[in-house]
Amino acid sequence: MTSRILTRWLWQGVPFGICPLCRSHHKLDREYIWGFFDQWSMQDTAVERLAAARGFCSDHAEQLCRIEVQGMRTTIGVTDVYIATVQQLLEDLARLRPDDTRGLSKGPCPACAYRQQGLSRNARYLLEELLENSDFREQLTAGQGLCVAHFNLAWAAADADEQREVLIAVQSRVASRLLAELDEHARKQRAEAAGEPAGVEADSWQRAIWMTAGRPAPVRAASVPEATNPYSPVEEPSSDGPV
Ligand SMILES: [Zn+2]
Ligand SMILES: [Zn+2]
Repeated sequence: MTSRILTRWLWQGVPFGICPLCRSHHKLDREYIWGFFDQWSMQDTAVERLAAARGFCSDHAEQLCRIEVQGMRTTIGVTDVYIATVQQLLEDLARLRPDDTRGLSKGPCPACAYRQQGLSRNARYLLEELLENSDFREQLTAGQGLCVAHFNLAWAAADADEQREVLIAVQSRVASRLLAELDEHARKQRAEAAGEPAGVEADSWQRAIWMTAGRPAPVRAASVPEATNPYSPVEEPSSDGPV
């Protein structure tokens, strides 16, 4: 069985009905952006990689600002690393010839690359856990399964029909239960069902959105410890560290 340490992020999503890879995606982002804020931004290689990427993508720039600008109320660190990025931009503009049809080079956002590598690794752990751990398989089936993008990621990471069969089985069970709940929710919205109390189907429309679009990450900064349920809109205390 895959080590519980390696599968911890996958398991964290399950009790809250969150796609395990959406959970991993969020944790990878927190891990990277906190690492960058805390120490990597002082390292030449990380700064050079950021300059080659022409800065972070808007998503990761926003996450960095959440820690530093909104949280720490300073702009010194962001300014320092972006000095290198803009210097690089100026140097490359000076070298750019009008007949160069490629324009400026642009490397991948380093935080996106980190997330992508981590997600591929977690997709492999997910497949192993699905096949080897019936508890995980049953809880995922009883919960919300995977979002469509992460179903496809796991599908692409599978190297055996057996793994793909389990993915189909889990996801079909979840989707067919969800469809029944959507039907029930639609029925209760009609006039003839007026007065019937809402049941578990009441938020099925929301779960349908999350299953198809993926679960949005909580907006809490990576410097703020996560609550027991980080996806709950209500703040709860937690003893977790910043990542
Ligand atoms: Zn997902
Ligand atoms: Zn990015």
